[in-house]
Amino acid sequence: MISVRKNIFRASALLRSKSRSQCTIKSRSIASLSTLPEQYQMLQKTCRDFADNELVPNAQKFDREHLYPKEQIAKMGELGLMAISVAEKYGGTGLDYLAYAIAMEEISRGCASAGVIMSVNNSLYLGPLEKFGNEEQKEKFVTPFTQGTKVGCFALSEPGNGSDAGAASTTAVLKGDHYVLNGTKCWITNGYEAESCVVFATTDKNLKHKGISAFIVPKNLPGFSLGKKEDKLGIRGSSTCSLIFEDCQIPKENLLGQPGMGFKIAMQTLDAGRIGIASQALGIAQASLECAVDYSNKRMAFGKPISKLQSIQNKIADMALQLESARLLTWRAAFLKDNHKPFTKEAAMAKLAASEAATFCSHQAIQVLGGMGYVTDMPAERHYRDARITEIYEGTSEIQKLVIAGNVLKEMS
Ligand SMILES: Cc1cc2nc3c(=O)[nH]c(=O)nc-3n(C[C@H](O)[C@H](O)[C@H](O)COP(=O)(O)OP(=O)(O)OC[C@H]3O[C@@H](n4cnc5c(N)ncnc54)[C@H](O)[C@@H]3O)c2cc1C
Repeated sequence: MISVRKNIFRASALLRSKSRSQCTIKSRSIASLSTLPEQYQMLQKTCRDFADNELVPNAQKFDREHLYPKEQIAKMGELGLMAISVAEKYGGTGLDYLAYAIAMEEISRGCASAGVIMSVNNSLYLGPLEKFGNEEQKEKFVTPFTQGTKVGCFALSEPGNGSDAGAASTTAVLKGDHYVLNGTKCWITNGYEAESCVVFATTDKNLKHKGISAFIVPKNLPGFSLGKKEDKLGIRGSSTCSLIFEDCQIPKENLLGQPGMGFKIAMQTLDAGRIGIASQALGIAQASLECAVDYSNKRMAFGKPISKLQSIQNKIADMALQLESARLLTWRAAFLKDNHKPFTKEAAMAKLAASEAATFCSHQAIQVLGGMGYVTDMPAERHYRDARITEIYEGTSEIQKLVIAGNVLKEMS
């Protein structure tokens, strides 16, 4: 563990020691990222070793028992993985988004539940707080959430609206020094464990999405309770539940950004979050491919390993192709974000391609394994169940297509 931690810090020191222009990958070399610069390779190997030692052996148990991987998340915090791109002065690791994407993929390859817990804390909770919070808010709600001992969550979706996020019906009314929150948020990842939450509520329904504001809501406030834990198809090691607000008083100073900025905060947060979910999907696709290759080399049929059969090779080729293409799109989106370029369309493309790759690869892996793909003795069926959510949360595939088409039409008209 200590040597693993040393490696992460060496990788992050290396990344920081280079000037931005040296350290950030140039667009010319984006197609040849299979030969990552040394500091990213080091980070990748460190995360892969951690996943092999700490996550792969436990992922089935987390899934079967709906167990939150508390110990492993704490260790990921020690490694600096729970606040990868948060500035060091706030307790983060201070790396860029490409580093985040690489680490997310490796962790999700080991356990997709650990991946989503990490992704929500990094990009959906700490991301908007670091970007839009004031110094006092950062001290109180960022720094304590960088170490893996406390996690945060992000509450946008409601029972009556998911894709149509601008139609929020949770209300926030300013009364003296407090906002009073009423309403229900649903499907909230990390809801059970989170000590703090970024919550979106409308201060003026007539203004539609322009009336939405964002609030930092710590756990245990009177009037704030949790709904039932959802029993899910996949990512069962992470909790998902409703957050219920009944006359819940929030100090006025917990408003994040300006009144009415909530929808903008949510959309910008989701742009970055989609790079995290794309990376989670890549991890699931990679795990599926590895499982299929390993099994096909060992399984004999008609006197030879099934990996010698052309139809099995076709599946391996199709899986590798989808995975590699999605990885390039994902790293390109991260690269654009790191270089302060627009990346909304690219993040949507990355999430769409990577989630489809995860679903495709996990489906094909089951086929390669035959009967063994269908039972819980092998991880293929878990990858198949875990993959499915990546096409739904942080914007469904249909919503990603709307985002992509909207941008393409604007660019080309
Ligand atoms: C396990 C899990 C974890 C989640 N975690 C979080 C979280 O941490 N925080 C949070 O805020 N939310 C979270 N969500 C919610 C998630 O983001 C929503 O489920 C998702 O955005 C879709 O919303 P919906 O379920 O209301 O579906 P709907 O919006 O009702 O969509 C239903 C179907 O209609 C399609 N559709 C809707 N509108 C359009 C359109 N304009 N054009 C084309 N097709 C359309 C959708 O693509 C979908 O196929 C989570 C969900 C799950 C299942």
